Amino acid sequence: MVEIKTPEQIAKMRAAGLVVAEALKACREAVAPGITTQELNDIADKVITDHGATSNFRADHGGLWFPGVICASVNNEVVHGIPGGRVLEEGDLISIDCGAILDGWHGDAAISVAVGEVAPEVEMLSRVTEGSMWAGIAQMKKGNRLVDVSKAIEGFIRRQPLPPKGKWGITEGYGGHGIGTAMHMEPHVLNYVERGRGKGMKLVPGTVLAIEPMVSLGTPHTKVLEDDWTVVTNDGTWASHWEHSVAVTEEGPLVLTAFDGGKEMLARLGVTAAPDPLGA
Ligand code: MG
Ligand code: MG
Repeated sequence: MVEIKTPEQIAKMRAAGLVVAEALKACREAVAPGITTQELNDIADKVITDHGATSNFRADHGGLWFPGVICASVNNEVVHGIPGGRVLEEGDLISIDCGAILDGWHGDAAISVAVGEVAPEVEMLSRVTEGSMWAGIAQMKKGNRLVDVSKAIEGFIRRQPLPPKGKWGITEGYGGHGIGTAMHMEPHVLNYVERGRGKGMKLVPGTVLAIEPMVSLGTPHTKVLEDDWTVVTNDGTWASHWEHSVAVTEEGPLVLTAFDGGKEMLARLGVTAAPDPLGA
């Protein structure tokens, strides 16, 4: 069953989304050579707490307890990196994934941040991954099908020129998800089109999905490290991950975890974002 939200509930999810946006902004501003991923975690933790919210990451996930409020995934790590003593170095690419629960409603978003100056292909990797997320978000319109989102994400990536070193690998086995009264809900959102899978659900106002492409400079295949969490690329190539929680509304997509609701980035794609229910 897919949870369909009322406009009032979407407004509550917007409030949760803004806490996540604040936490990620604070982390992004703190990223620099020399900082540890634990310090970034603690920055996000403070923002979440200061807003009267709680973390949906530092919780039980099917019998596994994630030990942080952010996932900090560096270089060849794709997602679910555990924050700790790792010191960021010039040239690294870190994906910071963060979530929060406010008033019972969940938000979830991720950004990739370059640490100082990065290699040209790494810069491209992050830009292509982010661009594919926005291409997917632009399809979050009523009447579309789930497959339209997946198709847009994959199509964007496939249309990009290849990086100077490597190629684009769309990570398999992980993807977006429904979100609302829980962080991970139906449906699963593929970042590519899978033959025989059908068109998926119709997007109706009140559908809220986390759109989160993961792209590597090589393989689409991954493995999980012995810590039972960290997902790395099979071939050691670097990866990027971007995510927003997005609502389908009568008036267009509303990006719950973007400060401007997605207005600016969607306008570039010729899509009008829904007005912010909180008037932010
Ligand atoms: Mg996330
Ligand atoms: Mg997510």
